[in-house]
Amino acid sequence: MSDSCIFCRIIRGEIPSYKIYEDERTLAFLDINPSAPGHTIIIPKAHVTRVEDLSEEDAQALFRTLHGLVGGIQDALEVPSSTIGINNGPESGQEIPHVHIHVIPRTRGDRGRIIQGLVQPLNRLSAEEMRRIAERIREHTSTLD
Ligand code: AMP
Ligand code: ZN
Repeated sequence: MSDSCIFCRIIRGEIPSYKIYEDERTLAFLDINPSAPGHTIIIPKAHVTRVEDLSEEDAQALFRTLHGLVGGIQDALEVPSSTIGINNGPESGQEIPHVHIHVIPRTRGDRGRIIQGLVQPLNRLSAEEMRRIAERIREHTSTLD
């Protein structure tokens, strides 16, 4: 819990929200400045800033809530698709330092873009660079096994 964090304050009921769903570990509510009608924020109740610092239990609970809500959000807004994203760290655009998943309802012709288009490398990476990058990432993530 953080005294000043806006999302912790929503969890405590100190700031009002358009609540969608709540369970022991997670909370979902409408984004106050929606990118589309029904734009929903899903958070862990634990005050954790970055995805990699979530406990395994909270990570699972968060994805469980996402999985349970996304179809209903689309149905409610009568849209066929959604973009699901997390800004993880300030350089990615994260403004509120409490992990949150954005669920943004999408329709054909909404003139929105795709997540892969957010940033683009200056040059195409060579096969050699791709191999080296994959190798380096495997080394840094070997504890997952
Ligand atoms: P970001 O940290 O950039 O991933 O996004 C934070 C999101 O939280 C923004 O889309 C804001 O519109 C949203 N937001 C900020 N304050 C509130 C609030 N009181 N209730 C609901 N959503 C909020
Ligand atoms: Zn918080």
